Amino acid sequence: MPERLFAAGGAGILAPTRPMDNMQDLASPAAPDAGALPHLNVLLAGPRGFCAGVDRAIRIVEEALRRHGRPVYVRHEIVHNRTVVESLEAQGAVFVEELEEVPPDAPVVFSAHGVPKAVPAEAERRNLTYLDATCPLVSKVHREVERHFGHGGRHILMIGHAGHPEVIGTMGQLPPGAMTLVQDVAEARAVQPADPDKLAFVTQTTLSVDDTAEIVAVLRERFPTMQGPKREDICYATTNRQAAVKAISEESDLVLVIGSANSSNSQRLREVAERAGAARAVLLPTADALDWSLLEGVRTVGITAGASAPEVLVEALVDRLRQRFRLSIAERVVTQEDVVFKLPAELAK
Ligand code: SF4
Repeated sequence: MPERLFAAGGAGILAPTRPMDNMQDLASPAAPDAGALPHLNVLLAGPRGFCAGVDRAIRIVEEALRRHGRPVYVRHEIVHNRTVVESLEAQGAVFVEELEEVPPDAPVVFSAHGVPKAVPAEAERRNLTYLDATCPLVSKVHREVERHFGHGGRHILMIGHAGHPEVIGTMGQLPPGAMTLVQDVAEARAVQPADPDKLAFVTQTTLSVDDTAEIVAVLRERFPTMQGPKREDICYATTNRQAAVKAISEESDLVLVIGSANSSNSQRLREVAERAGAARAVLLPTADALDWSLLEGVRTVGITAGASAPEVLVEALVDRLRQRFRLSIAERVVTQEDVVFKLPAELAK
């Protein structure tokens, strides 16, 4: 088994692990002819990158490979990041979209986004060995919808984005028709539940904190007896990364968000950065995707990364910038994270 390529919370000189009241210059090894290069300020958001749920999901696949050997099948991208997926593929993971693609003798891992109840049921029917890498914070939402439905007989409004695997997984915890998806304020104003007094809501974990607050406010006004979390179900990692990108956006002419296009929390970081004052914010899957014309006229570039993006991609982006600029790097950490999720019991032994 090769050494882990990725570390939770990043590693190396850019790791967002140091508490800073405000700003601190970080080491920025200069290129040999750096004196001739134009100057660029780099402002790193902290926290950024891997969250505890992503780190756990990757560890589950790695541990399954270590115990079972290759191949280990993974239903859906374990997390929404191509670099992570390709690294695990190189170690022997095989990514599929449906269980029917998994042969009877191979173990299968369910992704961090969670799966509808029908998926483990089907795995059991086929006697497949499966491991569930659903983030514990997504599983918590699954238990919430079961509680509302089972004990209160409530209809549940799910605030989220159609087609996202987490939404499919959460709505798949209950029978069809038990939940209604609400995607935005317009849908919150229009939704017509059969019994407005028997209502609850939950949310996707990776939404925009500000957008979701607006949607919840509309629903609470229309349905005052609606049950649900105090604010929403957005997880600590999404909340912290959005707060961190806000903290750097006003000073940044450009914010670069490392993350894949299908990563919900990365997309939200890009939107939050623009709303928080960045002149422009762009999502980049890797440093290689950087279009140099974006840097024209830019004095300060902010950098963050979605919860499924490894720190090595941030480091590669900084290295790429160093090829053309003399960098002054600073980091703003709005909060420290120390969340670690345990492996499932069957792998913890
Ligand atoms: S973004 Fe949040 S919900 Fe998703 S895996 Fe990370 S901690 Fe879990």
